[in-house]
Amino acid sequence: MKKNPYSRLFEPVKIGPVVTKNRFYQVPHCCGMGHQRPQAHAAMRALKAKGGWGVVSTEESEIHPTSDLSPYVEQRIWDKRDIPALSLMTDAVHKHGALAAIELAHNGNHAANLYSRLPVISPVSQSIDLVYPKQTRRMNKKDIAEFRRWHRNAALNAKAAGFDIIYVYAGHGMTLTQEFLLPEINDRTDEYGGSIENRVRLTRELLEETKDAVGDTCAVAFRFAVDELKGSDGMQFFEEGRAVVEILAEIPDLWDVNVSDWANDSQTSRFEPNEGYQIPYVEFVKSITTKPVVGVGRLTSPDLMVSLIERGALDLIGAARPSIADPYLPNKIKAGKTDQIKECIGCNICVSSDNFSVPIRCTQNPTMGEEWRRGWDPESIKPKKTDQKALVIGSGPSGLECTMQLARRGYHVTLAEADNKLGGRVLFESGLKGLSAWKRVSDNRIYEIQQKNNIEIYKESALTLSHINELGINNIFLATGSSWRKDGVGRSRRKPVQGLESLQVLTPEEAIKQSPNLRGPIVVYDDEQGYLAGVIADHLSFDEHEVIFITPASVVSPWTESTLEQKRIQKALLVSGVNVICNKTIDKAEGSNLNLKCVFTGEISLLKCSSLVMVTERIPNTTLYDQLVEQENNTEQGEAKHIQLIGDAESPGLIADAVFLGHLAAQSFEEPEQEIQKAMFMREMPSLK
Ligand code: ADP
Ligand code: SF4
Repeated sequence: MKKNPYSRLFEPVKIGPVVTKNRFYQVPHCCGMGHQRPQAHAAMRALKAKGGWGVVSTEESEIHPTSDLSPYVEQRIWDKRDIPALSLMTDAVHKHGALAAIELAHNGNHAANLYSRLPVISPVSQSIDLVYPKQTRRMNKKDIAEFRRWHRNAALNAKAAGFDIIYVYAGHGMTLTQEFLLPEINDRTDEYGGSIENRVRLTRELLEETKDAVGDTCAVAFRFAVDELKGSDGMQFFEEGRAVVEILAEIPDLWDVNVSDWANDSQTSRFEPNEGYQIPYVEFVKSITTKPVVGVGRLTSPDLMVSLIERGALDLIGAARPSIADPYLPNKIKAGKTDQIKECIGCNICVSSDNFSVPIRCTQNPTMGEEWRRGWDPESIKPKKTDQKALVIGSGPSGLECTMQLARRGYHVTLAEADNKLGGRVLFESGLKGLSAWKRVSDNRIYEIQQKNNIEIYKESALTLSHINELGINNIFLATGSSWRKDGVGRSRRKPVQGLESLQVLTPEEAIKQSPNLRGPIVVYDDEQGYLAGVIADHLSFDEHEVIFITPASVVSPWTESTLEQKRIQKALLVSGVNVICNKTIDKAEGSNLNLKCVFTGEISLLKCSSLVMVTERIPNTTLYDQLVEQENNTEQGEAKHIQLIGDAESPGLIADAVFLGHLAAQSFEEPEQEIQKAMFMREMPSLK
């Protein structure tokens, strides 16, 4: 039999007293489930184990009420009462032969303690890491001793909950232990401050005490950010980062190494297109310790994974986002089905859900976060109920997902697309500066669709009502998308802007298509406040246009705070010379002037403008749907048709929303109405005890 070229990835690795069956390691990642949604959490982690990950970790787990991350929903192990909820996860993960890891965390000044109302603690007195006028209490020796006791208790409780690997955590710019390590924060003059040996003291104590408490049966991992990417203003991997590894080298059973803060660790493909981007920072670690090392960097390609093992950069392939986009990634590699991997596109929609304290979601994997409440699994879907045929109109992310899933269920699907290429908005958006990885959303689906023999694809087929009637298919899913409006109606005004006829006004698509012929200055007006206007401005500026970015918001692309990109976006525009004007709406146009209105004072200022790109709101493309419904209403007898709007045609949103709505439609097709209406998912109800 031919040897699997990736067999090295399936070698067992000893981690202290435990052994993982392979090198696939789902590192800790947030998921918005944590202590509030334990059943959802257990099911989501169990699916990763089912998909072949050798180790499956929790998100950060608060060890004490002084590390209360509310309103964010993370894991909790404050005391023994948390054990049953955590055991749900360890039991579920163990059933699939994986090890369960828990990331014990005390978040120091990053935990605002809004729920517990306890003082925030930190090595020094400083402002808390939240816009809230409150400062930390500087920990005294008694506090440090207490903190060590809490950590030890949490480790014992984690062991009782069934975890195999227990973390000490100093990373992401959000843990107490890391605050002690960093000289720019820790200016203590006692034995916990000053020299690097003193600043490492607390971490060493935690590692040794955790090993002492649970090390007989549990491995003790250390998650450590070797570099803060702040240059000489912060920890650097070749200086103090290295020194920390040298001091602690053989103490932990496993080194889990990355860069901080979270925005640097989880960089988006827009700003860091390279897979394995963290390797140059972390690969030195293996030359210092004999203990296994795990690292991350949106690792999706099995060839790269093998090369990292073979050249001694890592022992274990760490992944958060690649395991979210495709929980079955290890099993697919093992089965030689690498062409079926759903690749992470590096968009950080997963991160945004944690920032909004709701269950995790993913652009590529619409089943992520729905394992328990809807019973979804990315690799299996219930079979068709009848031999009905389906027509999907539009091949954007929603139409492609709906087509793929209906076909997986066994239905015969006809997919019609007006354009000569499949992909809809993904074709446009992935052509913009920095977004090429987004093309994977359509590429991965088109690839699967082309393998199936129960799908007929018609390109260059802009269907009309009479075409649909000729086709005679009674189940019609309209994924006809949406169109950007050009009249200025958006978040800040519900009435069209007057006087626009004197200017060249463009949609985002028109602006990019006509870019070579546009006259400057080009004004990009963002009253959507999502990501697109920032990308358009960046793209046009790269095309060497003079660009002015105007928004009623107080920063560029405020939504992208949730994907950890906002600062990078604003910096990119400023560095490329875009004139950024915040807090202004467009009041009206007069000749070649725009009247800008301050959102606070109402004061008017004038701005010269040749071309105006409107990024404000979209109009759903429902004409065909409306015609179908009207025809159906006027038809007296005959078989009732299933006519359903999906994706942006139903409700314009993110690509992730369009994929989800396409998936939901395919899942719900031919389900009894009551099933669909049952709020469609299970909920975790608070216990009234
Ligand atoms: P979504 O994000 O909801 O998937 P998109 O805007 O990405 O929506 O895609 C909509 C797709 O539908 C576009 O590719 C468009 O060409 C196609 N389309 C719209 N109307 C028709 C039609 N009448 N017949 C065939 N295709 C259509
Ligand atoms: Fe990757 Fe985006 Fe999915 Fe996150 S949401 S796992 S970044 S594809």
